[in-house]
Amino acid sequence: MKSDIEIAQATTMQSITSIAKKIGLNFDDIELYGKYKAKIPLETLEKFEKNREGKLVLVTSINPTPAGEGKSTVTVGLADAFARLGESVMVALREPSLGPVMGVKGGAAGGGYAQVLPMEDINLHFTGDIHAITTANNAIAAFLDNSLHQGNPLNIDPRRVIWKRVLDLNDRALRHITIGLGGPLNGVPREDGFDITVASEIMAVLCLATSLEDLKYRISKIVVAQNYDRKPVTVGELGVAGSIAMLLKDALKPNLVQTIEGTPALIHGGPFANIAHGCNSVLATKTALKLSDIVITEAGFGADLGGEKFLDIKTRQLGKTPDAVVIVATIRALKMHGGVDKKELTKENVEAVKIGFANLKRHIENMQSYGLPVIVAINQFAADTEAEIEILSALTESLSVPISLTQVFEKGGEGGLDLARQLKKLLQEKSDFSYLYALESPISEKINKIVTEIYGGYKVNFSAKAKRQMREIEENGWTNLPVCMAKTQYSFSDNPNLLAAPEGFEITVRELIPKIGAGFIVALLGDIMTMPGLPKRPAALNMDVSNDGKISGLF
Ligand code: ADP
Repeated sequence: MKSDIEIAQATTMQSITSIAKKIGLNFDDIELYGKYKAKIPLETLEKFEKNREGKLVLVTSINPTPAGEGKSTVTVGLADAFARLGESVMVALREPSLGPVMGVKGGAAGGGYAQVLPMEDINLHFTGDIHAITTANNAIAAFLDNSLHQGNPLNIDPRRVIWKRVLDLNDRALRHITIGLGGPLNGVPREDGFDITVASEIMAVLCLATSLEDLKYRISKIVVAQNYDRKPVTVGELGVAGSIAMLLKDALKPNLVQTIEGTPALIHGGPFANIAHGCNSVLATKTALKLSDIVITEAGFGADLGGEKFLDIKTRQLGKTPDAVVIVATIRALKMHGGVDKKELTKENVEAVKIGFANLKRHIENMQSYGLPVIVAINQFAADTEAEIEILSALTESLSVPISLTQVFEKGGEGGLDLARQLKKLLQEKSDFSYLYALESPISEKINKIVTEIYGGYKVNFSAKAKRQMREIEENGWTNLPVCMAKTQYSFSDNPNLLAAPEGFEITVRELIPKIGAGFIVALLGDIMTMPGLPKRPAALNMDVSNDGKISGLF
């Protein structure tokens, strides 16, 4: 089979104006970024505000292997399948970050015959949103350091600056740095550091904002430091909320592209699913819901992490909860949960699938506990055997949960027709959604609910630091915010090696970081990487551009 980029380059794309037409948008409703990309201005969303909202399908997964289980691939292929059935459908996905693209992933715009196009642009600079976010973030840092330099009117304690600079690359050498060296003319020396752009609060803010006004309000609320009285200092107090919102005014508009089969797709915003909430922007999802009958969207990592945050954080801003959930499972990941070594995953092992099923079962029950109808999609890989697929189907059906074998990677929309047909029936059922926790409950109680009811843990411990921070959160009146859990994606627990469905484990909350602009409190469990490093052999070593501008090696 051809590589992703070969398949993408062999596809004849439709002009973006004809893609826009499919969702009822004419030339004046979009802003062209070349032939195959467009932004949808917020006035267009206002114009269609009165439209009835479509059905929302959330694609999530079991706890993944490091390679990913194919959520984006299934999201794209499923939308193409619905389009083949004549449905009005759109995809809403995140924008890839250059760091992982150049580092390990190679590309993150689906795979095989289920991709969004133009894949090179989407994986590289796209419409410049992530660069705008980088600039907006670093502008705040520059204004903060300037305030320190110009007599420090806000009484900022340089040892308690929270705000970091960002870059959309994996660059471990920038994790801890010292700035302001070189004498009084060059600023106030202090320790600083870089995060990757997609881990920044600005990215989360952009993805949760519901309008330009709301964006500006959220930016003004961002806490950048503490003063010498240990009170929060905000972007609003720096006086630059307006200018930062100005830098983001175009980045806030959703990006319209197409799938290989010409289905309209919105690719917008890309917050990390560990430190942030991990789903595409509220504005893109909302726009898609107003412009089509069915919207397929994805949340990062497993249903315990991105899925939970989609349901408990994003939907509260979106004003809409999913009508059904697709849980993507792969035979290889279930075998890993069943104790098989990574090198042995291509060998048939029915017993390991049986043991690993415990992981899928808990995710199914979790999603059902929100009152949502669930369907399982097996993302088929070449090495999967009939016996393995049979046992997985039988185990899932024994829970009265529908399951579909999908081959969208190999066949595009055609490989997802059964999933689409079964899902269509599920979408007719009434979902009866209820949140896991009430916003009014104390932070510790929210975390406790997530750990005991979603992760299957026994108890939560708070470090002394987290306890102190919990008191500060109360004093500052931030208790009513949702919690954004930052933990490993590989396990239900905070230990990446505890696979399948562990029980009786304790979880330690190391730190609580208020992200007041984003509107959530991050609970850090274990070490979470906010600036990844590059592997020994970065994916970039295989990438190239020919003299006539043709890109290769983006997987
Ligand atoms: P996720 O969204 O869960 O991170 P992706 O959809 O990005 O996963 O897929 C991860 C990688 O696996 C991509 O490189 C994709 O091309 C590849 N992939 C996905 N599904 C299949 C499949 N069925 N067979 C082979 N490779 C696949």
